[in-house]
Amino acid sequence: MKLNRFFIIIIILALIVIFITGCNSYEYEKDLYNDKIKIITTLFPQYDFANEIVKDKGEVKLLLPPGVEAHSYEPTPKDIVDIKKADVFIYTGKYMEPWAEKMIKEIDDSTIVIDISKGIELVDEEDWEHNHEHHGKDPHIWLDPVYAQKIVDNILEGIIKADSKNENFYRQNAENYKEKLAELDKKFVETFSKVKHKTIIHGGHFAFGYFAKRYGLEYISPYDGFSPNAEPTPKKISELMNNMKSLGLNVIYYEELIDPKVAKIISEETGGKMLLLHGAHNISKEELESGISYIEIMESNLDRLKEGLGYDE
Ligand SMILES: [Zn+2]
Repeated sequence: MKLNRFFIIIIILALIVIFITGCNSYEYEKDLYNDKIKIITTLFPQYDFANEIVKDKGEVKLLLPPGVEAHSYEPTPKDIVDIKKADVFIYTGKYMEPWAEKMIKEIDDSTIVIDISKGIELVDEEDWEHNHEHHGKDPHIWLDPVYAQKIVDNILEGIIKADSKNENFYRQNAENYKEKLAELDKKFVETFSKVKHKTIIHGGHFAFGYFAKRYGLEYISPYDGFSPNAEPTPKKISELMNNMKSLGLNVIYYEELIDPKVAKIISEETGGKMLLLHGAHNISKEELESGISYIEIMESNLDRLKEGLGYDE
């Protein structure tokens, strides 16, 4: 009888210990994994913007693997599972990611979905006087530093919905970051008021329409449409070379992450110098490892545009 009682006490004590340590390890895991808001983004700019807002209170994942061309990207089944498990999913809009539109219908309320183009008036393809056959809209809003500030607001709003307890922290970070974007915009305004030429000749796809419009520049690309998948015709390429000659321009810009064969042809034919104009859709493995930011990409673009358009201090 005494022995039985002794065992019962031991068992009760053991259960108490298991219960307490169990609770502790649960708390510990919660701190490590569950407290941070989990965010998945499609393109690099929203990845960078979301990181600027959440800092160490969130884990932001870029859906596109480094070096992958954004327009031809299709999510894997694992990507879809990850998105459904995330607290926040950020995408560019239906014209950039048509697959996201369908997928969103299957997502439940536990994932906040942010369309970064909300409240931004997208331009029809034909309105750029560039193409008259397609009927899509231009998705490249992130390349306009003023729209980038609106994008930060859209992302902030969604993140607060998903994690309201850190609202003040997120708001402050977003404000600080928008100030940097406003400074970037100011640099572009000042620079382009002093350039000799006002035309950007781009051997890549039509990505800088909003950017050029913002700063009163002309922008010429031989591509039809807003994707690099449909290659330009010889007629378009020769028109572009004629434009370059008549305007006295000697730089041909090429785009990131794609073999710049069109720019190369133009460079060889005209003797023009090839310079990168980075569209920031995605970044390379080296850029990811170096911790490159959207602002750094845009500042490098600014330096190369100074060179191509002729800038006098
Ligand atoms: Zn593009």
